[in-house]
Amino acid sequence: MDLDDLYQEIILEHYKEPKNQGTVADANVHVEGRNPFCGDEIKLTMLVQEGIVQDIKFTGSGCAISQSSASVMTEHIKGKRVEEVKKLFEEFGHLVRGEEHMHEQIDDMDELSAFQGVSAFPTRVKCAMLAWNAMKEGIEKELERYAE
Ligand code: ZN
Repeated sequence: MDLDDLYQEIILEHYKEPKNQGTVADANVHVEGRNPFCGDEIKLTMLVQEGIVQDIKFTGSGCAISQSSASVMTEHIKGKRVEEVKKLFEEFGHLVRGEEHMHEQIDDMDELSAFQGVSAFPTRVKCAMLAWNAMKEGIEKELERYAE
């Protein structure tokens, strides 16, 4: 099995059996994302405390890329510090846009790398980034509220 097949398999697995589906009961971050180009929708709930993403769950509908990207994302950011999550967001953005990146957070065998093929299809970049953009927006709102 070559790397492309493996990547395809990862995306389909997460689409068929998404991880962290549902709603975090004691969430302090609620955010929704929509991608009108493809009809994708994501609802995220998170518990962010002491600078750490303690819990994250999502519900949504749409294409395989958008839903599997949300699933893989939740697995990667749960339990991580907000600063680490922001670095991961930046690097994942570079990866799906086909830009040079540092490979500090993501290597070829990481499930996040499965989405690098998206860079060949610019309209799908929005699908892959939907959950990530929503997550970042939600965390920033929560941090602003905390700072006041
Ligand atoms: Zn889509």
